[in-house]
Amino acid sequence: ATMPPLLSAIANAGRHGVLVKSAVVMERLGQVDAVALDKTGTLTEGTPRVTAIRPPAGAGPAEEALLTWAAAAEHPSEHPLARAIVDAARNRGCALPAAEEFTASPGTGVRARVGGAWIEVGAPARLMTEGTPMATEVAELVTELEDVGHTAVLVLRDGVPAGVLGIADRLRPDAVATVAALRALTGRTPMLVTGDNPRAAGRLAEEAGIADVRAGLLPQDKVDAVRGEERAGRKVLVVGDGVNDAPALAAAHTGVAMGRAGSDLALQTADAVIVRDELATVPAVMTLSRAARRLVV
Ligand code: ADP
Ligand code: MG
Repeated sequence: ATMPPLLSAIANAGRHGVLVKSAVVMERLGQVDAVALDKTGTLTEGTPRVTAIRPPAGAGPAEEALLTWAAAAEHPSEHPLARAIVDAARNRGCALPAAEEFTASPGTGVRARVGGAWIEVGAPARLMTEGTPMATEVAELVTELEDVGHTAVLVLRDGVPAGVLGIADRLRPDAVATVAALRALTGRTPMLVTGDNPRAAGRLAEEAGIADVRAGLLPQDKVDAVRGEERAGRKVLVVGDGVNDAPALAAAHTGVAMGRAGSDLALQTADAVIVRDELATVPAVMTLSRAARRLVV
């Protein structure tokens, strides 16, 4: 028997390096008319590097101590920022003490006991509460890093700021072409949905050709962004990689996960998985779906 068009399309998608989980998903890919892209690990390469290690002036710890505490607490995390921090510590030859009682809050950061002290590492806006000591100095360090498009990560030791790390990531080489292809296919520029700060996100979005930026989002806010589009009558395809993207991948008309560095939860939740780590395969499989659907109908 000749292969039904949707099954041929699945085989074809496989050759492009995309695992489409069912014929229903293969069909839905061609119905999409809006796209939401995650930033870290999706629009960017997902291999960020530590660019700055800034203890507060005066009373702060040495750079190495700051990096060691942060890396020890991040060691159990699978987040790309965590890997950047651990790699930076290893490259400097820091020995990492064990982390105990580790917990991660998607879209916020991590917390663990390191050598008897509580270390928290994460988004400054979420870790800083009113009355945090050194708030002004920390805020200045954060602004300085975010203004040049880097992600600022705050390190707290027993609730007191121990310093700020600057982390930067690059756009994927195929990001600009993918954004243009998605715009051509859907008639609409994709939007960027990210937990990162608006300044870093805005700068990257501009480079990629994206005007619609939703920054500072928690996992549930990403879901709300998707639902908002769907209420406006659009069928939204979400591309993401993180644990923080899983709820949006589930809520979307079609969820696609980045497979190489994606979290297990994202891969399981998504309707399709990009195995070959090329973002440009997203418009490619949408096109395959449209061609197959013309044959089915
Ligand atoms: P994105 O939506 O761009 O993939 P996330 O939602 O994963 O980003 O993270 C949003 C923000 O939360 C990050 O920019 C960072 O400030 C903070 N964050 C999340 N996880 C971690 C972590 N493991 N270590 C440090 N910061 C983190
Ligand atoms: Mg991500």
